[in-house]
Amino acid sequence: MPYAYDDQNVFAKILRGEIPCDKVLETEHCLAFRDIAPQAPEHVLVIPKGAYVTYDDFTDRAPDAEIADFTRTVTEVARMIGALPGAGGDGYRLISNAGPTGNQEVPHLHIHVLAGRPLGRLVQPG
Ligand code: AMP
Repeated sequence: MPYAYDDQNVFAKILRGEIPCDKVLETEHCLAFRDIAPQAPEHVLVIPKGAYVTYDDFTDRAPDAEIADFTRTVTEVARMIGALPGAGGDGYRLISNAGPTGNQEVPHLHIHVLAGRPLGRLVQPG
């Protein structure tokens, strides 16, 4: 079944300027802003401006130009927060939650970019 996009989700409201965000970077197709409840010293969310629910929805439907912009914007954010291991940083973690198993709260695709402290194991032990 195709995804139904809820245009009342909080990130859609940020994109429309209806609620504020702490912007880090904006490109033609993406917006990056600080998470309102940071889980690490650096916690930035990168979202596409288009109406996509999950990573798979995005890669299935988005034009290549949007996908290229999105993936490069994630790297640019990691660079801006000084996290790139190849440039003297201590590294970072990317997370994109999807659906109930992923515990996705906001139904608009986002990548969490986390850095600034050791982040431990990937998931809680089952
Ligand atoms: P997820 O569970 O992957 O859907 O995570 C959604 C994230 O969005 C959480 O880390 C929230 O803290 C964050 N969030 C929710 N509302 C806002 C907001 N208005 N501005 C910035 N981040 C938000």
